[in-house]
Amino acid sequence: MARILTGGCLCGHIRFSANGEPDFPHGCSCTMCQRHSGAPVLVWVGYPAAAVAWDGPGGAPALWRSSDASCRAYCPLCGSTLGAVDDAGTVGLVTGAFDRVSLAALAPVSHSYKSMRPRWWARLFQI
Ligand SMILES: [Zn+2]
Ligand SMILES: [Zn+2]
Repeated sequence: MARILTGGCLCGHIRFSANGEPDFPHGCSCTMCQRHSGAPVLVWVGYPAAAVAWDGPGGAPALWRSSDASCRAYCPLCGSTLGAVDDAGTVGLVTGAFDRVSLAALAPVSHSYKSMRPRWWARLFQI
C-alpha cells in the first residue's frame, strides 16, 4: 500500500502529497538553510519529483534559484518555506511543513553542517 504524507504552507494556498518512502530525513544548519527558513536548523526529506503532487489551490510553489542545481520553494502568499526543487528531478520538503501526523513519521537520522549549529543545540537535541 502506498504511503502518502501530506503538508502545506501556513495559509493553505500551497499543499502537497508525497507518495512513497521518504528519503534520508536529516537536519541541516548550512547558511542557506538558516537564511531560507529563519531557523537555526531546517529538517529535510527527499522524494523523486514525480512522487510529490502540489495539490492545493495555488498549485506548485514559487521558486527562487539558489544554486546552479536547485531552487528554493516557498508560498508566494504567506512566504512559508516549503523546500527545494532540484534540477536533477528530486524535491526536498522541509519536515516542518508536513501535517502533524506526517511530521511524526519523519525523525531525522543525521545532521549536516553540524559545526554551524548554535552551541546550545547539543543541550536540547541528540543529533
Ligand atoms: Zn501560504
Ligand atoms: Zn542546508
